[in-house]
Amino acid sequence: MIAKNYSTQTFEKKYTYTGSDLGAVWTKEYTTFRVWAPTAVSVKLRLYESGTHGTQDLLEQLDMTPDIKGTWILRKPGDLNGVYYTFLVERDGITKEACDPYARTTGVNGRRAMVIDLESTNPAGWDLDRNPHQNRGIVDAVVYELHIRDLSADPDSGIRNRGKFLGLTETGTKNPYGQATGLDYIRDLGVTHVQLLPVYDYGSVDETLPEGTQYNWGYDPVNYNVPEGSYSTDPFNGAVRVRELKQTVKTLHDNGLAVVMDVVYNHVYDAGRFCFNRIVPGYFSRVDRYGRYSNGSGCGNDTASERSMVRKYIVDSLCYWAQEYHMDGFRFDLVGLLDVQTIREAMDAVRKVRPGVIFYGEGWTLQTELTKPNVDLMVQANSALVPGFGFFNDSARDTLKGTVFDDEAPGYVSGALDQEPWVRECVMGLNSWCKDPTQSVNYVSCHDNMTLYDRLLLSAPYADDQELIHMNCLAAAIYMLSQGMPLFQAGEELLRSKPLPDGGYDENSYRSPDSVNSIKWGTLRKKEYRRVRDFYRGLIAFRKAHPVLRLTDAKQILESLTPVEGLKPNVTAFRLRGQDEDLFMIFNPNREETLVALPQGDWNVCVRETTAGTEPLATVRGRAEVPAISAMVLERKAEK
Ligand code: CA
Repeated sequence: MIAKNYSTQTFEKKYTYTGSDLGAVWTKEYTTFRVWAPTAVSVKLRLYESGTHGTQDLLEQLDMTPDIKGTWILRKPGDLNGVYYTFLVERDGITKEACDPYARTTGVNGRRAMVIDLESTNPAGWDLDRNPHQNRGIVDAVVYELHIRDLSADPDSGIRNRGKFLGLTETGTKNPYGQATGLDYIRDLGVTHVQLLPVYDYGSVDETLPEGTQYNWGYDPVNYNVPEGSYSTDPFNGAVRVRELKQTVKTLHDNGLAVVMDVVYNHVYDAGRFCFNRIVPGYFSRVDRYGRYSNGSGCGNDTASERSMVRKYIVDSLCYWAQEYHMDGFRFDLVGLLDVQTIREAMDAVRKVRPGVIFYGEGWTLQTELTKPNVDLMVQANSALVPGFGFFNDSARDTLKGTVFDDEAPGYVSGALDQEPWVRECVMGLNSWCKDPTQSVNYVSCHDNMTLYDRLLLSAPYADDQELIHMNCLAAAIYMLSQGMPLFQAGEELLRSKPLPDGGYDENSYRSPDSVNSIKWGTLRKKEYRRVRDFYRGLIAFRKAHPVLRLTDAKQILESLTPVEGLKPNVTAFRLRGQDEDLFMIFNPNREETLVALPQGDWNVCVRETTAGTEPLATVRGRAEVPAISAMVLERKAEK
């Protein structure tokens, strides 16, 4: 069933369509449909009254006409806004019905596409809506990784639209103890970007079930250009999800927050049922020499991004989200499975339609069956081929908290010895795989694996609560003040934990219930939790106040940043001299205080133990006394 010639030059020359009108293009007078189906012998358009698969409400079935480069077209007179449709594709005596890969929206569960007047879904003021950080670089970003449901699912959130896009638009929400939650809380933290776990239409949650019945992270794409229905207040009406996601982006922008979208082009939910593969069998996915789907993703299939019409599809999709939804960044899941050329073309194309968009992803090396020779993959080691694209820095992550492959292994902050060289690499943003700080995404926790707090609990079983909080704060201080772009999982700053009902902690909560995944807003009533939150807020403010923490090339770093020699084992320290600033940072993971000699002059202490900010806490000279398991950061005006 898999044609072997898709990746040949002959096929690509004959069938690469470059127009921008794939899908249904609506106008008040008519709608034009165009679909790429080069191997089909006939294509029909089916128009339906509703978007619900299986409903017997076919309005019309129309023959489409073969056109250039393997596309089929039809222009249908009349105002079709709100009409649902599918394609009926015949090939080798088999006829399959498929949703439109270029669908702008769909009915429930993404089975039928819907024609839509996109302008009618724009919130008020959309024309003037801007990325609040469009003039800043990637190292100026501080990213907060958030799942739509996790923000509002907890009853203590005080948010009305629980589990919905609109939950992110509510201001003035409070927990039962009167503390701010939701959007107000995030804004107050000082992060610049909110990275949303998948918000495109995914397959693992049945949208017809009552709200909150199922939970999933959503790494199982069904319709790439359609918002997920379960996050909308009406998944049956295709216009509602579009309107509500745009409203969410607009509200975040109005609150000074840019929006990063988590995109998962590397695999689909079900390769056999994916609409693109139903229309052009096996075209979207890589297969091995036995005809089996390549499975480097571990999710059953890998996307053949090296094929011309898959590449175009990915580029078009990213441009669409940037242009139509005003997305300010893209986080690529398992980008190591995609090819370099696709990402370079996408970055160029997106930046033409929207300034200030940031790009980063997981550049892990995975085994995949490429369908063409000489293809470079988006792995860390190829970072120099994609300037400006950030990669998750697993070396920094594993150095600070211990390898993710052993939950009980300690890291630098939790007792591992001989980590100094790795900590230096992390702080200086100069890794073995990348010498450019704009390409390093520094983090210690995200949705995958244990939360930081659970990880510390498991790897330092001897430690009491206070020590665990100290370890957490030390880890945060290091990655937040390192060269590169910091990113953290929502709730890391609230000692987020994912305990399982039967004991232990959930290291892969992708389909665990809200009770495991949600941010527990009630914890804010406790002083320790607020203290950790305030520490993160202070670190973010400090980072923003000091350009020398946000350098953009290796040369600047080597000129400005000097590791301090002659310290006690495990202790690391750095001096950073910028234009008008002079910083001294000390990291002490030991369970005892350490003394560090300071360069001449009066130094203001801005970070100490679990307190951080831009206001001096004390002034010292001569030497710094750094308490056990903590960071100390000092500053003074630079001498001219
Ligand atoms: Ca869905």
